[in-house]
Amino acid sequence: MTTDQFADRHIGPDADGERRMLETVGYDSIEELMDAAIPEVIRWHGTLDLPAPATEAEVIAELRAIAARNTVAVSMIGLGYYGTHTPAVIRRNVLESPAWYTAYTPYQPEISQGRLEALLNFQTMVTDLTGMATANASMLDEGTAAAEAMTLARRTSKSKSPVYVVDADTLPQTISVIATRAEPLGIEVRIVDLDAEELPAEFFGLHLQYPGASGVVRDQAALVETAHAAGALVTVAADLLGLTLLRPPGEIGADIAAGTTQRFGVPMGFGGPHAGYLAVRAGLERMLPGRLVGVSRDADGNPAYRLALQTREQHIRREKATSNICTAQVLLAVMASMYAVYHGPDGLRRIASGTHRAAARLAAGLVAGGVSTAGTAFFDTVTAVVPGRAAQVVADAAARGVNLRLVDADRVGVSCDETTTDAHLSAVWSAFGVPEFTGEVTETLPVALRRDSDFLTHPVFHRHHSETAMLRYLRRLSDSDYALDRGMIPLGSCTMKLNATTEMESVTWPEFANMHPFAPGEQTAGYRELVTSLEGWLAEVTGYDAVSVQPNAGSQGELAGLLAIRGYHRERGEGHRNVCLIPSSAHGTNAASAVMAGMRVVVVACDDNGDVDLVDLDRKIEAHRDTLAAIMVTYPSTHGVYETGIASLCAKVHDAGGQVYVDGANLNALVGFARPGKFGADVSHLNLHKTFCIPHGGGGPGVGPVAVRSHLAPFLPGDPLGGSVDGQPVISAAQHGSAGILPIPWAYLRMMGAEGLTRATGTAVLAANYVASRLRAHYPVLYTGNKGLVAHECILDLRPLTKATGVSVDDVAKRLIDYGFHAPTMSFPVAGTLMVEPTESEDLAELDRFCAAMIAIREEIDLVGAGQWPAQDNPLSNAPHTAAMVTGDEWSHPYPRSVAAYPGGVDRAAKYWPPVRRIDGAYGDRNLVCACPPPDAFED
Ligand SMILES: *Cc1c(COP(=O)(O)O)cnc(C)c1O
Repeated sequence: MTTDQFADRHIGPDADGERRMLETVGYDSIEELMDAAIPEVIRWHGTLDLPAPATEAEVIAELRAIAARNTVAVSMIGLGYYGTHTPAVIRRNVLESPAWYTAYTPYQPEISQGRLEALLNFQTMVTDLTGMATANASMLDEGTAAAEAMTLARRTSKSKSPVYVVDADTLPQTISVIATRAEPLGIEVRIVDLDAEELPAEFFGLHLQYPGASGVVRDQAALVETAHAAGALVTVAADLLGLTLLRPPGEIGADIAAGTTQRFGVPMGFGGPHAGYLAVRAGLERMLPGRLVGVSRDADGNPAYRLALQTREQHIRREKATSNICTAQVLLAVMASMYAVYHGPDGLRRIASGTHRAAARLAAGLVAGGVSTAGTAFFDTVTAVVPGRAAQVVADAAARGVNLRLVDADRVGVSCDETTTDAHLSAVWSAFGVPEFTGEVTETLPVALRRDSDFLTHPVFHRHHSETAMLRYLRRLSDSDYALDRGMIPLGSCTMKLNATTEMESVTWPEFANMHPFAPGEQTAGYRELVTSLEGWLAEVTGYDAVSVQPNAGSQGELAGLLAIRGYHRERGEGHRNVCLIPSSAHGTNAASAVMAGMRVVVVACDDNGDVDLVDLDRKIEAHRDTLAAIMVTYPSTHGVYETGIASLCAKVHDAGGQVYVDGANLNALVGFARPGKFGADVSHLNLHKTFCIPHGGGGPGVGPVAVRSHLAPFLPGDPLGGSVDGQPVISAAQHGSAGILPIPWAYLRMMGAEGLTRATGTAVLAANYVASRLRAHYPVLYTGNKGLVAHECILDLRPLTKATGVSVDDVAKRLIDYGFHAPTMSFPVAGTLMVEPTESEDLAELDRFCAAMIAIREEIDLVGAGQWPAQDNPLSNAPHTAAMVTGDEWSHPYPRSVAAYPGGVDRAAKYWPPVRRIDGAYGDRNLVCACPPPDAFED
């Protein structure tokens, strides 16, 4: 092994481990295994045309050179993206800490209490600042949050009108995203200048921006009343920092508040990732899309956090889901919430007042120099009126190192933030040609709009203001969680592989972190080079012709891909094609995305083997031949199998005039061996947070690029500032979506090269087959393909055992916690099963530790089955066991404490202790609490 090869670090098993795994599976080499596993019809025998792999040192040097091609100016562009000081204690101990960034979505709440508490703080922060009743745990960005607010209004408004009114002073990129989302749903977006025009007589919803994109702060109370009288719901897209000083939307009766939390310590990153937010008034909480953290109780009756009301989500409700959001922005929501915890309400008010004072001085200087400004009330943004001179002013400011917003030929926008200094203001005044201003200023916020209500009164926002206290709070929370830094997370479909430190390193460099998404092109050459090469490499890996990295999650890539299909059919005069075939095994986002793209979902059955039933496919194609738009299939299937029928499936759909969408979430089983763009598919999304090493962050960020063959390329996502409504769709608020984390997959591809990537795929498939081989005698492996092989994951069927013993898949998942593991994926895609995806990054020792735990658990199940342990009181039904439980003064269970705490070889010196016992989710759903509970709730 040559250890300067990154691939040897990324791939867990060494040569000896690989040999032993091959022996167990019964093959001589990975090539032979892959030849047997992958159907020849899709097998590709070429070599990926990628640059020869770089070492870790080389890739850092290359990224330094790319970063140097970005010019980071002082950004006063505003439009939803602001300079912010990320507190160093948060940057290092959250953003750069694997305990936070390598965690998975908190579906196993007992091992996720730390991030769930941080998210509950986030929800409390958002509800307090907006004055709403309930907030969710993050949205993908402000644009998509606003679009979700629109559909929420559509679902709940009593008005039959198709009209959605949007304040003309809304962020332009938000308008683009709203317009894209509205069109397929038959919603008519009407942009109204609310200073000059009346509201229409009938409409179902109204979107207001507060403060406006121009910076103007308006009293919106009367508009809310008018809208409610028309039966419409009102969304206020509000700036959270502004809301520390301004009357919040909840206090004027708004139904929904939406926006971003970027300026709470999250770098701009050329557009993302940041946590968007969405909050609703009382009565709408059960309609809220996205994840919602709530308080429930554990088996001992102690309060404990878990995801609430999951029954309204896409993975359960499919085409009837409230939205397609799956991965959100957890890591960034944690950062924003910690910014509020660290500063507290007084600190936030101080930051907001400083920002406002800077803007007030700026405006006073302009006015004193004879430049007029739009509106008199503003928070942080001033629009200056300079007839015919705007471009010149913006260019002058840029020459002084400050970016301003060119509104049009006559107007310039200038936004202040917590990083604004006197020197920045001087540069701006100079660019306008007005003298330095030294006079006194007063606040410009109208008295009627000033906030007089309290916020962030919960003790958590008051106890951690010293750095020592903050550091320990972050450590305490992350210590209660299980992430990849503790052990393997064998989640089917989610590919929890290594997130290498070198891949992460450049994300916080200022040249990448501090770039505004609308900075002028000449300042962003490095970023554009990074995006172009990444898109090119992804096209090569997938065999497609064009790629867009704009979608900021897999679900958004699905929508982008389906909208491309829709655009293609319409351009060919076949706009009536609207049926989307989806196999019954599909991920829930597929169906939800199809509905959002204006399609009708028709389900195709699976056969006894778990494969798409080609006979049923023929039937469904026949029934919908004239209206067939597309089929959406996952490959390899969500059953973890390389289906041999894929090529004929593609051909049948094409023959009927449909397009083929291959969900690329399982690309980790294909890279280097098969290319969807060449085996019959027209479009795919990829999940860079699965196959390409972006960490899951506890449920986001993600990137979901959409990849297409050339005929769909004209319909790829367009420029959010392009203003085009019926041209290219706009999927996220920024052109390159979550650009700030693209260095991660870039570095991965650059360091692995063609050979490393191919070896990673082979090792991932070997690892899955190794686990399947070792566990088969203890748990049936549900589905297999060629020669009894699985692809990169395997489904362990617990249903026969459950039937015989009463031990459920839940019991096994929770018992794995006692053994020091994160559970595999539970009950997806088949209820009552566990899906295991070991990935290429786990070494043989860790795979063996997992297999040993599963085998030991099988023996425990047998003891229950044999009646040695009662069905209601055994180590499985009582799992997980907390330290408090096993050290309690009483112990009445029919098995010893050592079996509870240290089963089957658990290292006593390195034991992971869950902080709570099994959580009762239903209790929390009946008694919905989604903000921080008072501290006395935690007293004994
Ligand atoms: C993860 C996944 C998705 C959704 O991707 P997100 O990034 O979570 O939005 C879609 N399909 C499949 C098969 C997946 O595994």
